[in-house]
Amino acid sequence: MPDVFQQYINGRFENGSETLESVNPATGKPWATMPAATQDDVERAVQAAHAALSEPAWAKLTATQRGKLLIRLGDLLAQNAPHLASIETTDTGKIIRETSAQIAYIAEYFRYFGGAADKLEGAVLPIDKPDMEVTTRREPIGVVAAIVPWNSQLFLAAVKLGPALAAGCTVVLKASEEAPAPLLEFAKLVHEAGFPAGVVNVLTGFGEPCGRALTSHRLVSRIAFTGGPETARHIVRNSAANLAATSLELGGKSPVVVFDDADIAGTVNAVVAGIFGASGQSCVAGSRLIVHAKIRDAFLNALVAKARQIRIGAPDDAATEMGPLATARQLEKIEQVVASSEAAGAAVLTGGKRPASMEAGYYYEPTIVDCPNPAIPSVQTELFGPVLSVLGFETEEEAVRLANDTEYGLAAGVFTRDLSRAHRMMKAIHAGVVWVNTYRAISPVAPFGGYGESGYGREGGIESILEYTRTKTVWLRISDEPIADPFVMR
Ligand code: NAD
Repeated sequence: MPDVFQQYINGRFENGSETLESVNPATGKPWATMPAATQDDVERAVQAAHAALSEPAWAKLTATQRGKLLIRLGDLLAQNAPHLASIETTDTGKIIRETSAQIAYIAEYFRYFGGAADKLEGAVLPIDKPDMEVTTRREPIGVVAAIVPWNSQLFLAAVKLGPALAAGCTVVLKASEEAPAPLLEFAKLVHEAGFPAGVVNVLTGFGEPCGRALTSHRLVSRIAFTGGPETARHIVRNSAANLAATSLELGGKSPVVVFDDADIAGTVNAVVAGIFGASGQSCVAGSRLIVHAKIRDAFLNALVAKARQIRIGAPDDAATEMGPLATARQLEKIEQVVASSEAAGAAVLTGGKRPASMEAGYYYEPTIVDCPNPAIPSVQTELFGPVLSVLGFETEEEAVRLANDTEYGLAAGVFTRDLSRAHRMMKAIHAGVVWVNTYRAISPVAPFGGYGESGYGREGGIESILEYTRTKTVWLRISDEPIADPFVMR
């Protein structure tokens, strides 16, 4: 008997009138039934969120009270992290080591945004008219449609819900049709935290009809999307119906540039974290290694040795370092691109196949592909899997050119002990996040987002809360004199 998860609309948990099955990627077998939200479900959720915006139970809360609810949600998340981690591991195949640590840390995001809720201030403007007082107020933008993919979904939900609720908005959160269980389970904590009915609604379902109906709904004022660039284009087109302000956190093909003065052992670990962590299913995966010719052989030898030691296994085993990919579709796409890369002249240094040790599930070995040029398919395509493409360079200019040779611009890594060079590289690289001598570090305090095909808008940090507000300017005339000339504006 599979587990059954429910959707959360207007403060109530309900079964879906339509359902979908979620597959455990470690076994390839269905393990749970989820609602597949219909157009009617979306309608009810958006109406509930819209009504909640002006209901006193939410609208009359002070920013401090909203903040306390968020902090309580963070505390509940921390307490329930092991339970949610186990659900995420079963539903997505992400290893329990990582889901446990990540979910416990996500609590800090809710605490951060909770603390920031009453620190959003308006301004008194030094206006150029002696008889006027002019102030600005930050008001909640309205109903937010938050749409996330299956990977790191609690994290990606936190960076949307946190700032939206801190700002006083209400939210309809749509989980992916792949592996939505963690967010449906998380809805129970939202309920327990005491958010009034309709403030947060959690649905799951397919792009059509659920995603389309949500993003084109006339009562939605803000869309916060994480997913792929093609879906993003649909969403931007959908938003022509409601003119919702939109943020897009899309994919990446992030470069990791390693200079010949880098510390080899430490950098190898960072490269492994960047591409084999979460089986490479991370938007910031450091999937293009650009390494100086002088150390290329030594570096690749050390990296290949390390990749071969990675323990592949069941994701719920605490000793496992790499689990399966989340879907069969992902696995097939990766196999196809690695094969076409070999056909184009690339050499697979290690991996490039399903591990013989795993009989079922969507497993793929940590793979390193040595590429003679940047036109090789694995260098160009976002694979969302454990595949590292390697290119060499001789000069700093060449390294910059290769690093920026992508339409994406989400993240980048630079490894060097030369401080001046680190500064030059940090400025020259076209990406929203640059890590120097580290990789994949995140914090609620730090903004995150992309350039180019990686999208726009920032999540994390104070500026992300402002993206859920709109400014109201209030003019107050303080003179008792009559208005002199009604036909002259001044
Ligand atoms: P996807 O774009 O297929 O799906 C993302 C979400 O969009 C899902 O909830 C899906 O149901 C929904 N959707 C699909 N069609 C829609 C439509 N027409 N209207 C509205 N919603 C619709 O992405 P995916 O394959 O699930 O996730 C992987 C992608 O997400 C990768 O490209 C990855 O790089 C990206 N990603 C980006 C970040 C980031 O922060 N930049 C983080 C994680 C993942």
